[in-house]
Amino acid sequence: MRVYVESVGCRLNQSEIETLARQFRALGHELVHEAAEADLCVVNTCAVTGEAARSSRNLIRRLHRASPQAEIVATGCYAHLAPQRVGALEGVGRVVNNEDKERLVALVTGADVPAELYEREPLMREFFPGALGRTRAFVKVQDGCNNRCTFCVTTLARGRARSRPQTEIVQEIRALVAQGYREVVLTGVNLSSYGHDWKDRQGLAKLVGAILAETDVPRLRLSSLEPWNLSAEFFALWENPRLCRHLHLPLQSGCDATLRRMARRSSRAEFRALVEAARARIPDVAISTDIIVGFPGESDAEFEESYAFAREMDFMKLHVFRYSPREGTVAARLPDRVTVEVAKARSARMLALSEEGARRYHARFLGREVNVLWEQVSGASEAGFHNVGLTDTYIRVEMDAPRALTNQIERVRLVGLTERGMRAVALTERAGAT
Ligand code: SF4
Repeated sequence: MRVYVESVGCRLNQSEIETLARQFRALGHELVHEAAEADLCVVNTCAVTGEAARSSRNLIRRLHRASPQAEIVATGCYAHLAPQRVGALEGVGRVVNNEDKERLVALVTGADVPAELYEREPLMREFFPGALGRTRAFVKVQDGCNNRCTFCVTTLARGRARSRPQTEIVQEIRALVAQGYREVVLTGVNLSSYGHDWKDRQGLAKLVGAILAETDVPRLRLSSLEPWNLSAEFFALWENPRLCRHLHLPLQSGCDATLRRMARRSSRAEFRALVEAARARIPDVAISTDIIVGFPGESDAEFEESYAFAREMDFMKLHVFRYSPREGTVAARLPDRVTVEVAKARSARMLALSEEGARRYHARFLGREVNVLWEQVSGASEAGFHNVGLTDTYIRVEMDAPRALTNQIERVRLVGLTERGMRAVALTERAGAT
């Protein structure tokens, strides 16, 4: 069978769809680059916002148009929460809820999937749209969340928190390194709660320590970390330079009253203390965040407080979401909805703040030497290959070189600002020579 896979939404979804693809391939099915060539399309949907749900529906429609003969299997948070709506879309033959997602390949093919597949099968990243080559692998270490943030639909779709065993994760990462991956990104719905299901409050710190000690992965990155599970001591792990100096700490609002209505478990003061502790321990750490604007009841004064706090935190990037009510959540029943126009204006201000923060953060690196993991070649010209990669601090770097550098980590000098990041030259070249 020829199988096409695609996912919408977060890194966790991406990591899951890679696992499913690997399982299909291990059973002898062929992964294809284009939906038009497929007999079966598997879509990992997202419901985090109304927009993400819409994108999931649009993706299914697009796949059906590209491949009317193929059966579409829909899974993921949106399919889990709206199975009838998804099942009614043309081409969809089966909806697999999140509880059965791990068995999806067995359900679809009727065959048993080997349990320890990751040890033997390379990830087929080249089959994923927008793939970056075999450079960066996303590894899911936990699923679900025990919190009840009032806006969050993910927790309804993903259930209670459960963590994968540490030994299994370490083995998987060793296998990925053996296959040539240079960076591993740990993902989860609530990554910082890793291990809490077996009552270990230090679970994530121990996991990170074990990965650094027991694998040779050149770079380890952590995806989003809910702040209240972290302590100042956690940042001592960054004494190891293989741990990327990038923290994504979702704030959601910089106003305590809004945070209480959101049922978030970190106040402004606690968040500030955590950021200060991280900056004190990790030189040049890049801190990014998520912000929701237009949450029910967010008055002008509350928004101004949130905006001022976000400015004070000097984030390197803000992911800004306009609040959209998600069915089944507490917030969807809250009064005092903010109008779309007001939410749009607030979003624009937060996005401008994000751009300012990125420019300021990038400017501090001008003239400095950094290591870049080259992830792809975006084009070629007389100047050579246009290489694009990332620093450990998540700065997007571009550099022309006589050869493609993909999947190498190189020390370069940052010499200029670009629209989306920075420009580099090789250390042998004079700064400013290009
Ligand atoms: S901690 Fe994160 S995943 Fe859990 S309920 Fe809150 S927003 Fe959702």
